[in-house]
Amino acid sequence: MRPEGRGPLDSLYFTYPHFAAARAPELDGDATQHPVVIVGAGPIGMTAALTLARYGVRSLVLDAKPTFNDGSRATCIARSSFHILERVGAVDAFLAKALGWTTGRSSYRGREIYRLTMPDSEDEKFRPMYNLQQQYTEQFLHDACMASGHVAFRWQSEVTATGNRADGVTLTVESPHGSYPLRAAFVLAADGARSALRGQLGLRLKGDNYEGRYVIADVKMAFDHPTERRALFDPASNPGGTVLMHRQPDDIWRVDYQLRPGESPEEAVREATIRARVGAILVDLGHRGPWELEWWSIYTANTLALDDYRQGRVIFIGDSAHIVPIFGVRGLNNGLADAHNIGWKLAYVLRGEAGEALLDSYSPERRGATLDVFANATKSTRFMTPPTRGHRLVREAVLSLALTEDFARGFANPRQMQPYTYAQSPLTPFAARDAEFSAGPVSGAALANVRLGDGFLSDHIGDGFSALIFVDGAISDDVAALVAAMAEREPRLRALVVGGTLEHPCARSLADPGDRLAKAYGAAPGTLYVIRPDLHVAGRWRRAVPAEVLATLDAGLGRPQ
Ligand SMILES: Cc1cc2nc3c(=O)[nH]c(=O)nc-3n(C[C@H](O)[C@H](O)[C@H](O)COP(=O)(O)OP(=O)(O)OC[C@H]3O[C@@H](n4cnc5c(N)ncnc54)[C@H](O)[C@@H]3O)c2cc1C
Repeated sequence: MRPEGRGPLDSLYFTYPHFAAARAPELDGDATQHPVVIVGAGPIGMTAALTLARYGVRSLVLDAKPTFNDGSRATCIARSSFHILERVGAVDAFLAKALGWTTGRSSYRGREIYRLTMPDSEDEKFRPMYNLQQQYTEQFLHDACMASGHVAFRWQSEVTATGNRADGVTLTVESPHGSYPLRAAFVLAADGARSALRGQLGLRLKGDNYEGRYVIADVKMAFDHPTERRALFDPASNPGGTVLMHRQPDDIWRVDYQLRPGESPEEAVREATIRARVGAILVDLGHRGPWELEWWSIYTANTLALDDYRQGRVIFIGDSAHIVPIFGVRGLNNGLADAHNIGWKLAYVLRGEAGEALLDSYSPERRGATLDVFANATKSTRFMTPPTRGHRLVREAVLSLALTEDFARGFANPRQMQPYTYAQSPLTPFAARDAEFSAGPVSGAALANVRLGDGFLSDHIGDGFSALIFVDGAISDDVAALVAAMAEREPRLRALVVGGTLEHPCARSLADPGDRLAKAYGAAPGTLYVIRPDLHVAGRWRRAVPAEVLATLDAGLGRPQ
């Protein structure tokens, strides 16, 4: 909602574009089957489109609205998401605008009880978290889609029916020029929390709704306060409740506050109430100057997901597949990982470089990630919005103990998002080899970055699979033959040879002064890691076992074992 006198898109800092509705060729008889239609031009649909574009796959993105999502939504973007944005060629605009941060502070009744410092080091290319309004996220992704030359948009085009067959999907699209059928080999349903496609296919989200309500309000003010997460438990301005605050670019600040039990939601969202409550909170946070109200809303926490994210040729990504509580900033970040995961897999399948079986790994991997988010978010949500008198008592006890006792302070940790480890994935068939290592990322985990000279290990990973091979000068004939066999299966293969050189067009040598890479990866001469296009480890061997390495690559390419 916006203050009285301002329209729904009348923002203090962002100018919403208006996208016209072009006449669709289908209205004039064109029956082309598009390789991929993406329903929803939110951040997740556009990231999927950019991932496909990276591999030269064209997509058509439909959205019911004429512009980006309005109001204030996802603010915090995690490091792992910045790696995704980099891989799809969009990160520069994000780095130029977003505010990076590493720390947070929690207080109870005005006294500090916890200081959060998120893991960061010189080996990391990006900061653990960045704050940026979702409008900019959508604008930057849209700019990158337009620049790619592989993404077409149809705005003001609402999907009203979905026919899912074994050989393709037919959508019914309503546009200002009329209604028409649209054919696609695959559809990515990125149509958000109220997904129409879910309903059209007779699917339902399952899980829990939580009672506690939060108001979120964005205000504009000049406030000299660092970019860090502030959490106020039981402050004078919201007795018995919680207040959270985040800084965003353009002097915009996000304030979230918990409603007390019995507070009426209707009363809570009246402009006069919002102004009184937010004004008191800002004083509590140390701001005495003027401020303007930008936007506000009210929400509850949910942990809801589809049982299976893939329904034949319709694949659900982002909020259409799962709704997670916003504590711990996972809605957007979890969805970006969905988009990237299905993006490279679908591109490989559509280009004939992988078998369709590869698509079967999407749902277990990303649903597993969502269930992990639920496990963490449920703990955070119970703490932030205690559902019962018992939970409330535990929270009070923990917070008052945290004033004096170290052990209790960890409970006030907001549990920030970490990339999920695809340990049970069909794409990591030799995870048992992890037992051979005492360091390094396990099978299914995200790549551990290492600073190499003036760049990073992640800079050397290409768009395809990579082999990270540790040698001691001379390369054995076995390893050379293995690389050749891998390159034959995967033309995008990049062999990164640490400590030696290999004569093969896909090979690159990596210098490792001080053995930083070898130490970070628990490696000895002969060690080999297979890394997926999305920077997750597919498998690792302390001494390469060629048959297992090739079987892992085959699994990653959806080929029969
Ligand atoms: C008030 C609020 C605050 C939030 N705060 C945070 C936060 O701080 N941190 C965080 O991580 N997440 C937050 N989220 C969640 C985050 O905004 C979502 O996770 C994210 O927007 C999901 O993106 P999406 O692309 O999946 O869906 P959406 O952004 O919802 O996009 C879906 C798109 O599909 C279009 N569409 C819908 N139906 C159709 C149809 N039938 N035909 C064509 N197009 C259609 C819509 O117009 C829309 O553009 C918040 C959400 C809300 C609502």
